[in-house]
Amino acid sequence: MDQLILCGKLYDGIRDELQEQMEILIRGDTIEAVGRGLPCPEHTRRIDLRHLTVTPGLIDAHVHGNILRWQEMDHILNQSEGYFTLAYLHTAQRCLERGFTSIRVNGLGPTGFGAIDCRQLINRGFFAGARMVVGCHSLGCPGMPADMSMYVSANPLLSDQAQPSFVGSGPDFFANQVRREIKYGSDFIKIFLSGSFLSPDGGPEVCYLSEEELRAIIQTAHDLRKPVTAHVYPGQAMRRLLAMEIDGMEHGALMDEETARLFENSGAYLVPTFAPYQDIIEENEAFIHRLTADAQAKLRRYAPLLRASRQVIRDSSIRLGFGSDFCSVHQPYESCYEYRSWMRSGMGAFRTLKAATSVNAGILGIADQVGTVEPGKRADLAGWHRDLLQDPDALFECDFVMKDGVRCAAGNRVVE
Ligand SMILES: [Zn+2]
Repeated sequence: MDQLILCGKLYDGIRDELQEQMEILIRGDTIEAVGRGLPCPEHTRRIDLRHLTVTPGLIDAHVHGNILRWQEMDHILNQSEGYFTLAYLHTAQRCLERGFTSIRVNGLGPTGFGAIDCRQLINRGFFAGARMVVGCHSLGCPGMPADMSMYVSANPLLSDQAQPSFVGSGPDFFANQVRREIKYGSDFIKIFLSGSFLSPDGGPEVCYLSEEELRAIIQTAHDLRKPVTAHVYPGQAMRRLLAMEIDGMEHGALMDEETARLFENSGAYLVPTFAPYQDIIEENEAFIHRLTADAQAKLRRYAPLLRASRQVIRDSSIRLGFGSDFCSVHQPYESCYEYRSWMRSGMGAFRTLKAATSVNAGILGIADQVGTVEPGKRADLAGWHRDLLQDPDALFECDFVMKDGVRCAAGNRVVE
């Protein structure tokens, strides 16, 4: 049956405006027409959303869905692949309820390839959940953030046994790992270049991969027609990656002017993941105290640089994607906090919405299917009663979700 959606306001993922009294005609899983006063064929189901602002289904480009609760992150070595797979499914369901109809999963830890199964089963309609674009594991070296055996490094015998198979050294090792990730179904390759604020490694300015290893990863992935993105912080490391024609980067939270200019001219994207640094930037002690002592110390030391970097990113014209990166403080599906961070950072509502829709669709490689409300695109939509242009917390309450033309349960169910 055809469906006609009556919008209060419409953000279409293209124009920097909210259009009034627009209608969307849907046939099956596809948008047939968008406009005012559309002809309404017989037997069309009318869905009245005149009290809501309708947007494309939103997209989160940096989700760690392999844990059920952020509080379990430190126990990741104790979980089975079965647990990770179910956690991915849970995350995809919770994201969908919150209006995020597509997510890019950045693997973290020895999760196995269960995310691929989740992606397939959701695509085949066995489970309602956000569409998943998956990078199963984050490749890197011993001692880097995704080497979860770091958590038992006080016992080298145990730690060596617990070191994940995608952690290693040398160009041949990484070329093989890239082929393996793609063989088993990863849509993109994620690497850890820098250390991190949150895990017990050398910190955000340490770089773990050599020039030869980076080249082997990027070249092998590109030979196999898959994009590469990197977890990275310092400007000097980002400039190395840009010179190697990497497709994009995550975080970039120690951005400087020189690097921003190179970024702007490169065409590479940056998913800046503002939310994990928002609490230290705003000196929100209640949330900072939830972190480990090591993470708190690193964040406090870098707070001035994080604030300066945020302004450099805001004032740049880098191609920015929207990604929440929650593996601490907030649950992995609470992408609404990333919207709050963009709004409180002065990014502007339309720039934020565009990042979370059409820009992200390009980053995920699915711009031909989703990210905008226009004829021919899949009928992925979300509806919101709060003011998207003024209210930083507007995404905290989702009122309507449709994916592939099927109306889904909307809400913000908290599972603690
Ligand atoms: Zn991350």
